[in-house]
Amino acid sequence: MENKKRILSCIQPTGDMHFGNYFGATKNWVDQQEDYDCFYGVVDYHAMTMPYDPKKLRNATWELIFNLMATGVKVDNLFIQSLVPEHAELCWIFNCFTSYGMLQRMTQFKDKSKQSKEKADDFISAGLLDYPVLQAADILIYKADYVPIGKDQVQHLELTRNIAQRFNNQMGKEYFVMPEPLFTEVPKVQSTADPSRKMSKSAGEKHFINVFGEEARIRKQIKSAVTDTGEVKEGEMSAGIRNLFSLLKASGRIDAHTSLMDDYNSGALKYSDLKESVADGLVAISKEFKERKAEIVSNRKEMKNQIKQSSFEIRKTAQQTVKDVKELAGLSNVRF
Ligand code: ADP
Repeated sequence: MENKKRILSCIQPTGDMHFGNYFGATKNWVDQQEDYDCFYGVVDYHAMTMPYDPKKLRNATWELIFNLMATGVKVDNLFIQSLVPEHAELCWIFNCFTSYGMLQRMTQFKDKSKQSKEKADDFISAGLLDYPVLQAADILIYKADYVPIGKDQVQHLELTRNIAQRFNNQMGKEYFVMPEPLFTEVPKVQSTADPSRKMSKSAGEKHFINVFGEEARIRKQIKSAVTDTGEVKEGEMSAGIRNLFSLLKASGRIDAHTSLMDDYNSGALKYSDLKESVADGLVAISKEFKERKAEIVSNRKEMKNQIKQSSFEIRKTAQQTVKDVKELAGLSNVRF
């Protein structure tokens, strides 16, 4: 454990896990557990920045925890953000080392506040503006070496580094190490109903395939996947077919992928064969995870206790960082 580099990655509890989430994020979490010292957070504080339903939030948090455990994320690496309230404390301290102008220039803030403005209530919370500072606290509180991110998060990680640098400079001590981005090859999964857009919950029911959904529904969604989009250049694979091949590869069916790709290249591919193979691949993954989840849920109380315990253990690292930071920043500390 000691020599391993540390990774921090977080996910918001916002409903069902789809195959885009799994192949694009969760699978990586599982795979990285071998090589890194992993801190994986279900970040419920972050889920409050847009209008939300409190009852649904707590349920969604546990549901996501159980789903992550079912996919193979180890309990010891998992924590619930609000069970480590030091995240919010460090966020406040970091607020005082963050430029307001920089927060306003964050692309995600601009996009999300625009979305809110377009809705009837027109309410933009200060939390939405402050979101990247909480993210900086999430990362720096564990002194993570790496943060696995996509291109859309580069700006936020830059802000994190900026905050760390400013804090270090003002305190006259290189306390925080600069976290680095970790770019991993992950497939970008498109919606099977409209392969021109990414698979996403926010686009509506037909645009995502639930990892924990019914087998019949998974098969139906793949069977009705759009294959010919009409705008394909001569000799190019259509976006729908490309997406199905990508799903097949992601689901680990390499032999089927090779043989169906040969069919495609020789012009003999039957779309129904490709779809059946993809559906078999996804259903096999889903079946395994659903079985594990059933076991986890049947033991719900004990599992919740384990997560509370792992959050408690992880909190010790966070408490130490906040203690050091308060010491450096001229705040008062009491023993804990
Ligand atoms: P959604 O768009 O369904 O709301 P989130 O934005 O909550 O999904 O994404 C959670 C994680 O899943 C992120 O790490 C994101 O990069 C990954 N992810 C989401 N959709 C896809 C997709 N279609 N392909 C690959 N990765 C995805």
